[in-house]
Amino acid sequence: MSSTEKSSNFIEQIIDNDLAEGRVSSIYTRFPPEPNGFLHIGHASSICLNFGLAEKYQGQCNLRFDDTNPEKEEQAYVNAIMEDVRWLGFKWSGEVKYASDYFDTFYEWALHLIREGKAYVDHQDAGTMAKNRGDFTTPGVESPYRNQSVEDNLAEFEKMRAGEYEEGSCSLRAKIDMQHANMNLRDPILYRIRKQSHHQTGDKWCIYPSYDFAHGQEDAIEGITHSICTLEFQDHRPLYEWFLENLPVPHQPKQYEFARTNLNYTVTSKRKLKRLVDEGVVGSWDDPRMPTVSGLRRRGYTAAAIRTFCEMVGISRSDGIADIAMLEHAIRDDLNNHAARAMAVLNPLKLVITNLPEDEVQSMTAAAHPNKPELGERTLPFTREIYIDRADFTEDTTLSRKKFKRLVLGEYVRLRSAYVIKADEVVKDDQGEIIEIRASYVPGTVGENPPEGIRPRGVIHWVSASHGKQAELRMYDRLFSHPAPDKGDEDFMSHVNGHSLEVRQAWIEPGLAEADPEQNFQFEREGYFVADRHDHTAGAPVFNLTIGLKDNWAKKV
Ligand code: ATP
Ligand code: MG
Repeated sequence: MSSTEKSSNFIEQIIDNDLAEGRVSSIYTRFPPEPNGFLHIGHASSICLNFGLAEKYQGQCNLRFDDTNPEKEEQAYVNAIMEDVRWLGFKWSGEVKYASDYFDTFYEWALHLIREGKAYVDHQDAGTMAKNRGDFTTPGVESPYRNQSVEDNLAEFEKMRAGEYEEGSCSLRAKIDMQHANMNLRDPILYRIRKQSHHQTGDKWCIYPSYDFAHGQEDAIEGITHSICTLEFQDHRPLYEWFLENLPVPHQPKQYEFARTNLNYTVTSKRKLKRLVDEGVVGSWDDPRMPTVSGLRRRGYTAAAIRTFCEMVGISRSDGIADIAMLEHAIRDDLNNHAARAMAVLNPLKLVITNLPEDEVQSMTAAAHPNKPELGERTLPFTREIYIDRADFTEDTTLSRKKFKRLVLGEYVRLRSAYVIKADEVVKDDQGEIIEIRASYVPGTVGENPPEGIRPRGVIHWVSASHGKQAELRMYDRLFSHPAPDKGDEDFMSHVNGHSLEVRQAWIEPGLAEADPEQNFQFEREGYFVADRHDHTAGAPVFNLTIGLKDNWAKKV
């Protein structure tokens, strides 16, 4: 399906109707992360949805930081989030926006509600307030401060703003309905005291608006037409609308909810991901095992594969759990089509080509990609001593050609992009361990069939021992060994896969050392690898396993 034929999701249907019936004339969305952690694969869904709609309808999408919680937020997260959105291939409209850009307006609007008799300063402590809110079966109890005069409320709110009260001693609440069936309308908190420096506003404020008092108003100020959030905000929608009705806002946005994207074998909650970082289970937020956008990126996932995955998962109104195999499929498919091929030997066994002189170096050429001549060619030095993989040789001569398509004593195999060779002799150490194979090459077999009577069993990969380079390979596996790590009674941390990283040394074809950081490869017969963004250098190459060629997870568990 081309992008124009894509079947439309329920939000697109709403937009199509709004446009057809003239409720809106252009589309304006926003992606509103709180900068309290790095973005994860769930956020990628929301990004693809919001920015994707703006692209599809030639509208606009803001990147807006919902920064109303200074104690949990940091500039470092702001920076990481901007980089992730850009890397995913999206462009926000104009400057980055911050909820904190509007703190002066929110403050004015709080005064407006007080003057209208629709807000009051409550001196009850948090515990009392929570108790008096009641629950689904118990009506709320009105605060003794609820009917304070407008003048008193204005004076008290000014004292809150001036820092005269301690954190937690009072808050500003909307005066709505303590009996309301929707708990969110039982006099919700508008402002609380937080004596905290803020990453954008410094020490200007010691009172901060609640999410509810901020979000819809931000949408109104920015002219957002379709404010799309996840399902847990559905019950907040009446409050979102109450503020828009009761404040002098310049525009009336509408909120729509969709289901979160969940993935099996994964946790998607910044709070939980932060624990993995803080407790040292992973090295950083962008550790290649993390389901963060930057972790996936460092693992070798491409932005295109992540966008494809989000499209495959789609947008729905009811919760579901996507299979991580789908994400893995998306990256395998992309890399199979685009990643250059290369050779790396992970379990080296020396093989000496006895009929090639010691100092002779022959240059072999190989296509970077079997179906993409535009990716060019690479040069492989062929020398007397090479490495092959231990698993590609056996002394067992009884194995059928079908069962073992590799090297057997007295028989032939083709070295990928080079000669057909024959294994003549095995050299062992005192313990009987094979330390070397002595072989001979068949002249004239590069890119040519061998003479009559010579039948190679298969094709194996190799690297020159004298010209190859050593590299560190970081072999990653899933971070959790349980399909629903955070769903049961146990702490999700108890389901961390203890074997999610194995560091190995390998021999790589020499050109690979020159790879650019983040360059993707298929190491033939081994898997897809990427040059590590941070640690790879020509002098000390480092590659991360993105994903194996075939899904071998099912076999393991
Ligand atoms: P987390 O629990 O990970 O902190 P959050 O919803 O609190 O998630 P925000 O920074 O508030 O994180 O989210 C920014 C936007 O991304 C919101 O609109 C939110 O609804 C959306 N979002 C967050 N997680 C998911 C998810 N798993 N699937 C789809 N959208 C998501
Ligand atoms: Mg949040």
